[in-house]
Amino acid sequence: MMPCDQVTDRLWAFIDGELPDDEVQAVQEHLEVCGRCFPQYDWDRAYTRFMHSASVRMTSPALRRRVFEALLRESMQSG
Ligand SMILES: [Zn+2]
Repeated sequence: MMPCDQVTDRLWAFIDGELPDDEVQAVQEHLEVCGRCFPQYDWDRAYTRFMHSASVRMTSPALRRRVFEALLRESMQSG
């Protein structure tokens, strides 16, 4: 499995859709089983909402990042 530091290095590229498919898979698999990378967030819920938001795909990488960070914060606040 990909180590935590490599996952966090790739996280924004993953969210931005800039990772090659094999690395996307490795990051996804890691996040499914690892409680250390984002223990304070409801990662799955935030990411699912992010991916289902059609408007997100039309925005710039920088804006997508801000949207995702906002969803993560919201997940954290709602417990
Ligand atoms: Zn990890």
